[in-house]
Amino acid sequence: MPVSIPLDSSMIDLTSGELDVIVIGGGITGICVAREAASRGLSVALFEANDFGSGTSAATTKYIHGGIRYLEQYDVEVVRESLRERRVLALGAPHLVEQTRFIMPAWRWSKPPTALIGAGVLLYDALSFDRNRRAPEGLRIPHPRWLSRRRLLEAVPWLDREGLQGAFAYHDTMNIHPERLLLAYAKSATVAGARLFNHARVAGFVGTETDGRFQVEGVRVVRGATEQAVRARVVVNAAGPWIDRVLSSLGRPTGVGVDRSKGVHVLTRPIGGPGRVKDAVFARARSGRHVIVSPWMGKSFIGPTDTPIDGDESSVVVDPSDVDLILDTVNSTMAPDADRLSVDDVEMTTVGVRPLIRTGAEGESTGTYSASRRHELYHHVDHGVANLWSIGGGKWTTGRATAEQMVDRLFENELAGRRSRRFDSRRTAAFGAFAWAEDADDYLRVATDELMAVGLNPRSAENVARLYGSEYVRILELVRTDADLARIVGPSADDVGAQVVFAVTHESAFTLSDVVDRRLVSGTTGQVGRETLENVARIAAPLWGWDEGRMADEVRREHDRRTVTTTHWRTPTA
Ligand SMILES: Cc1cc2nc3c(=O)[nH]c(=O)nc-3n(C[C@H](O)[C@H](O)[C@H](O)COP(=O)(O)OP(=O)(O)OC[C@H]3O[C@@H](n4cnc5c(N)ncnc54)[C@H](O)[C@@H]3O)c2cc1C
Repeated sequence: MPVSIPLDSSMIDLTSGELDVIVIGGGITGICVAREAASRGLSVALFEANDFGSGTSAATTKYIHGGIRYLEQYDVEVVRESLRERRVLALGAPHLVEQTRFIMPAWRWSKPPTALIGAGVLLYDALSFDRNRRAPEGLRIPHPRWLSRRRLLEAVPWLDREGLQGAFAYHDTMNIHPERLLLAYAKSATVAGARLFNHARVAGFVGTETDGRFQVEGVRVVRGATEQAVRARVVVNAAGPWIDRVLSSLGRPTGVGVDRSKGVHVLTRPIGGPGRVKDAVFARARSGRHVIVSPWMGKSFIGPTDTPIDGDESSVVVDPSDVDLILDTVNSTMAPDADRLSVDDVEMTTVGVRPLIRTGAEGESTGTYSASRRHELYHHVDHGVANLWSIGGGKWTTGRATAEQMVDRLFENELAGRRSRRFDSRRTAAFGAFAWAEDADDYLRVATDELMAVGLNPRSAENVARLYGSEYVRILELVRTDADLARIVGPSADDVGAQVVFAVTHESAFTLSDVVDRRLVSGTTGQVGRETLENVARIAAPLWGWDEGRMADEVRREHDRRTVTTTHWRTPTA
């Protein structure tokens, strides 16, 4: 019988004693470090300033992929590692990682030219030589193939026909809901004993200074109105694009340079019509710019952009120019008679900050589009700071591998002499997976049927089965005790009341945004209106102890926040 793990809410007992490891940052990298370290027998606490997965990890293109594009930069090492991880994640969470066919059209004018694209696709295939090891029939990834022009237009009828030669079709995997997959790893970490705290910001380090060297002994954590010191033998700074900001409180050079780039996506009506196009399309315009058009939750999810950030990255927002850039790029690959996209077709946007390793000379950036997506482990002892590591760069796809390497380094250095418990994260299912290395389809069918039998509509039932995996039984139990909880919470999505209850009681959701953006799907599939926010608040408020006044304030604040963001990208600049 699956168990649910409440993520932590009280920090009181952490202030006495000493942990083995403190992790700063609850994105995919930090969560994987916590999971790996706790599973290997270490005592671990993780502090996340906002909500788990609310940083870059929630802003991705939603692929667990090798990154075929990086072959253009000859980044074979990153591609190989990512392809290895694609297999690990697909076997470990088959309900949330789904095979998707990618179509890479070739026009006579394509840059790079068709022959070179073909060579890249073949190399990509060769680098994934072990992709089907231990994979059951349903999860096996086929070799790429060439699609004739006719076949291509049957699959993607909206493409510009002029000069169109055909397409390469290859497979990668989709991270169906990165927020919930991250939560699944967070739960794996807590099952192993890690303590995870969201809305807990690390404000600085505690330690001792001797002869110009600083010995880190822990961190200062601010949660609500309280600040407290928590001690550990070693601290891992996994704050993604903000690792240098975290380090700045040390007041000394640390040898860490971060390049940041803004990445935007738009969610639109499904190009080509509902359910018509099933493949992801790599749409590369004559300008050389490309976007990926993915079929997602009945809509088209399109992006990303890649624009260097020069100034303050803390308030990065989607600008009208970002939306225009994406629409222009995709529209320029469409047939003149196709139903091109306009701003009115955009239902919502996402934005994130990429953490990229700075490779140029000290203080000098080398550009972000062509920057490597590799990760780097910085040992600050080289800069006079003991017991502190930072993790730079990386991808969602490689978070597990990065964490494994990080924890290996801890056992070789600060925790040398400690015995590592046997644990192999490459062969361990994510929390809530029905089974390791098994096609999830049969389980999903049974779960969907059971959920429909207690009153969920078919789309809600399918969503809950897929997004909660074996924890669907918790939703089932809640609906059995209160049939009203089978009702959807708003007109724009299929989330039901029981998911809100579960988010608050078992998934550490403390704000309306935590619930709608990262526990439910509502916040990721379109605009969330006042009605949905009110419905969610009405269910969550008693559980949070909010009175009527607080509830109304929180709904208004959250509604205003969302409206301001949307109005900004919808308002053309003069
Ligand atoms: C537009 C875009 C598309 C992408 N697409 C893909 C893709 O399809 N596939 C893929 O594999 N990768 C993709 N990536 C890359 C991937 O999303 C990132 O590499 C990954 O999510 C980084 O995770 P992280 O944990 O290092 O950083 P984050 O997710 O940003 O986590 C860092 C966390 O640290 C927290 N933090 C910061 N300061 C503090 C503090 N003082 N105290 C406590 N916590 C703090 C932040 O709140 C944040 O939650 C994409 C990135 C972008 C921007």
